[in-house]
Amino acid sequence: IAGAQWTQLNSEFEFISENDEHADVAAGDRIIDESLVDEALDHLQSEASSAEAEVEAAETIPDSELRKQLVALKTRLDSEIKIHNMPLCYVRGDFFDRPPHPVFALHNSLAGTGLNPSGLYLRDVFIWLPYLLPGCPKRFMCTCGSALSRNGFNDDPIARRVRHIPDDFFLFTNRFICDGRRVNEPGCGTSIQGTDPHILAQLPRQVQVAFPAYISPRGAVSKLMVRLMRNTFSHRHGAAPFAEMVTEVQYLSHADGELMYTAAANFYGQTGLKRFSSFDDPHGYAGSPPSAPYLKGLFTDVVSAHRIFIERDTATKPLTVAKADHTFHVLKHIGSVKGEQIFTAASTCMNEFEEARGHAIVYSKSLEHVEDMYEHMFEGLRASGNPPTQILYTDSPQAERPFHERINKTMTLNVVPVTQWTDLPPFRSDPNTITVSVSDSIHIEEAANEILQNLFSCASPSQLYPIALAIKAEHCADELSRLQSPSDILPSLRSILTNSSIIKIGHDIRRSLQTISQAFSVKDIEPSMASKNPSTLELAKYAKLKGRVDSPLASLHDLAGAVLHKRFDIPAPSTSWVSPSPKFLCAEIDCL
Ligand SMILES: [Zn+2]
Repeated sequence: IAGAQWTQLNSEFEFISENDEHADVAAGDRIIDESLVDEALDHLQSEASSAEAEVEAAETIPDSELRKQLVALKTRLDSEIKIHNMPLCYVRGDFFDRPPHPVFALHNSLAGTGLNPSGLYLRDVFIWLPYLLPGCPKRFMCTCGSALSRNGFNDDPIARRVRHIPDDFFLFTNRFICDGRRVNEPGCGTSIQGTDPHILAQLPRQVQVAFPAYISPRGAVSKLMVRLMRNTFSHRHGAAPFAEMVTEVQYLSHADGELMYTAAANFYGQTGLKRFSSFDDPHGYAGSPPSAPYLKGLFTDVVSAHRIFIERDTATKPLTVAKADHTFHVLKHIGSVKGEQIFTAASTCMNEFEEARGHAIVYSKSLEHVEDMYEHMFEGLRASGNPPTQILYTDSPQAERPFHERINKTMTLNVVPVTQWTDLPPFRSDPNTITVSVSDSIHIEEAANEILQNLFSCASPSQLYPIALAIKAEHCADELSRLQSPSDILPSLRSILTNSSIIKIGHDIRRSLQTISQAFSVKDIEPSMASKNPSTLELAKYAKLKGRVDSPLASLHDLAGAVLHKRFDIPAPSTSWVSPSPKFLCAEIDCL
């Protein structure tokens, strides 16, 4: 390429950088991050306080229909237990003590003092009396080791309101006490509710499963609600729409009652009756649907309590096929400090059953942050007897492969990497190529000088001179110390690198030049690369421009396959400085 062609090519690049929809050609050597949503997060702080306020709101108030129901129930249970040794609902084979269904409640009230809606405000009550349940121990034990005594029912509140659909229910239980006044075996004085996990744990498993609710200091929700939340929250149906759904269902339940009441009044020709209670009248229907912060808080409590089990389960899952990716989307749901995001990405690793096997919230996309996660996952595979990971899918395999192969040694065991070019005939160096391979600064200078001489004396303005420089990356300073001093910088080589009329063509040539500029302290390379018309030509970018490859970052292996239709295997980097490196380098140059 020379003169006009070069200008033409540069203007094509410019056109693309201005019209490139996905900016993948123009910004070839830069990874484009997905945009980060800077949504404000202000609801987290208020969660705890609003949950507390709601617990209070859910309490029954004196003289309300619900309080009357619970007071009457407590007295009735006492006498039922005296007669039957258990509540009548247990005799019937049910945990629920249910008020009559509205249809019968209305019909019954008609026979009494006239059609009355108050029976429609009552809720079901779940009776949980552990000492009367099948398979219960003779004595429940306290955490201190001595036996617990029964300590009657609760007074205030009599029962706990449990959030549920289509309507809340109450959970009624008894108390236990580790009685300090006992003569034989004085206890420690602890009072425990029958719904306490410590009591539940002393019941047979099949009975434990029947317990209907999750109780936390923030409140109580039914098992069904938590199951619905788990299923919906994990599919983007968050707490806010869930709370709206529960509210809607509870309002509809109230509307059903009101409809039955007014229709019955119409049917029986009754007039001048009491109005049906409004949904939220605490004396009447006392509807109190849970808010989104309340549900979110409770859900967090439930998941935190189960976390150890969830994690243990996760750690025993197989990971024979792994799928790893970073995302930026979930991070908007994670708290920030003064609007500054603490973490920028989440890395997730799924297994062959689409189960999350590892998840890390990280400061950047750099793989060093997820090293621990992978090590722990592989440790879990060994510990639980699962086979080692065999395949790993990622969106940038070229960049991530060395990392994964280093972390998981089993990945490379008995594996020959295959690409679409593997079956092509292998690339061979052109035997006519004259290779001059020197490793001494004086000879390098001589060779470079010869190129310059030929170049400027030659009649033809353009000629290709393959040049390869081997730099041992890790010990750059030591190995090249002779070349480091600016006075000793090989003037001819330097002018080849900086002269803008000599176009540097190569694979990942810009990065190579940057490396050289740093290693040799050749400061004037960088400005020449930054100029509008840089004297460099990235082969991969050019191949992309010509439609030969999809990515402007295509590897030399891909370029050789797509352009030359040859298989070019990039040799493993040599461990010694001298021997195979120059050989490899000239093969690479031939390939170019
Ligand atoms: Zn005790």
